[in-house]
Amino acid sequence: MYSVWEGVVKVKTKKFLGIFVNPVFVQSEGIKKVFDNLENASVQAIAISCNIASPAENGRGRRFPDLARDGYKRLLARPVWGKYEIRLKYFSAYDHNLQLYDGLPYRPVSKNVPSGVDREVPDAMIEEAKKRGMQVYIMIHPLIPPDTLAKDQPVFIDGSNPKPPQYIFKPWACVNSPDAGGYGLALIKDVLLHYPSVDGLMLDFVEYSAYSLEDNFACFCKHCEARAREKGFDWNIIRSEVNSFWKWLHSLTSDELKHSLCIIRSPSRTLERLIHSPGWLQFLQFKAESVVAFYKQVRKQLNEMEMQELTLSARGGPPPWNRTSGMDYRNLSEICDTIMPKLFTFAYSALPRWFGQTIQAWNPGLSESDILDTVVEWMDLSDDIKQRTFSSYHIPGKDESNPVIIKDFNNRLEEVIDQMRGNALCHPFAHAYMTDSEWRQMVAMLRDSSVDGMWIQMYGYLSDQKFKILGELWY
Ligand SMILES: [Zn+2]
Repeated sequence: MYSVWEGVVKVKTKKFLGIFVNPVFVQSEGIKKVFDNLENASVQAIAISCNIASPAENGRGRRFPDLARDGYKRLLARPVWGKYEIRLKYFSAYDHNLQLYDGLPYRPVSKNVPSGVDREVPDAMIEEAKKRGMQVYIMIHPLIPPDTLAKDQPVFIDGSNPKPPQYIFKPWACVNSPDAGGYGLALIKDVLLHYPSVDGLMLDFVEYSAYSLEDNFACFCKHCEARAREKGFDWNIIRSEVNSFWKWLHSLTSDELKHSLCIIRSPSRTLERLIHSPGWLQFLQFKAESVVAFYKQVRKQLNEMEMQELTLSARGGPPPWNRTSGMDYRNLSEICDTIMPKLFTFAYSALPRWFGQTIQAWNPGLSESDILDTVVEWMDLSDDIKQRTFSSYHIPGKDESNPVIIKDFNNRLEEVIDQMRGNALCHPFAHAYMTDSEWRQMVAMLRDSSVDGMWIQMYGYLSDQKFKILGELWY
């Protein structure tokens, strides 16, 4: 789009812009201030959760923002009730229709809402957004039921379950668990029956976790085995090859680490490995098929509810993590309207250490720098750290730089867009927890990339300065 400003022809983007706004910010700042900020930034859509909160006392409740495994005191950029970190108690903003969960071991927990806490905040946000010409999406986590039972938790190849600190948030259920899946579908119906006027639904954490090294060796639960056998996957060969690789990672030498880089740098050598590892290929295909199957069920349910017009969005890991997480953007783009790869650089800043420390625990003789030089390349991450140590890789503190190169994330997005083949819109989710200078690079990179727009996680990390940068660069 071109327009003439002061005699100079400038390129104007009309790319989509959406922001996730936790209702607690409306509770704290007031609806007018929040929406004035959003409107000033020309936001086209908001995403909300359907929870409200109240301050918790004496260390109770949950820290907000969460520390995401080792958050080095992650702080908000906008205070909630005067604080940049706060402990909150959460409540559902609506009464669940518990009949929808009949026959399931999972159902939402209803807590009494204290007097003075306004349950109508999400409704008011929907109304205000519509008044200001913005779309409204609801974000939910269908596979995180209250207290996931052991039988529905992911299982690694050695038979163990994820334990802290292997998971970044509490463990979400295996996508193939019939009970967890049933809960997820019931929750989707429940929330949409209560908020039928919203424009879109975005699902988060409907994938296999890929935050720890062990995650790449899941899931071998009985639900996955049953589904794999039913769908014609060779479960025995999958088990055997995944187990061999698990054992190989427990007896590594420095030379083997270096040799692994020769393999991944050469398409021919990589192909050679895959041709002779049909079990691994089947394992990755199986995970992708499982995630896609859940989205197909969601789409079918939306059709049955006569909500065909609702925008269905899939939010998940970008390449290369989507390979092992099952986010098969090629097939998901045929079911979903929007694909949302997460650009959460704070997590990618810590992943090399999370993986690396496991490798070192399994192989105490290996050096930190050898491990990190290898893992960083396995993940296709780039940084300009000369001598890598574990301490270089952590979730940054406030105003601390991320050890990642922002512009390189464009390659990941181009890969997703290739996978999608034009079937859906690509709206990556950019996390605003970064320095102002990095935020400037992120917004400019997304503006100039091939993506159709962006979502921002979240309002509370957008300081006034970051809003200003967004306004200067995006439109
Ligand atoms: Zn499983």
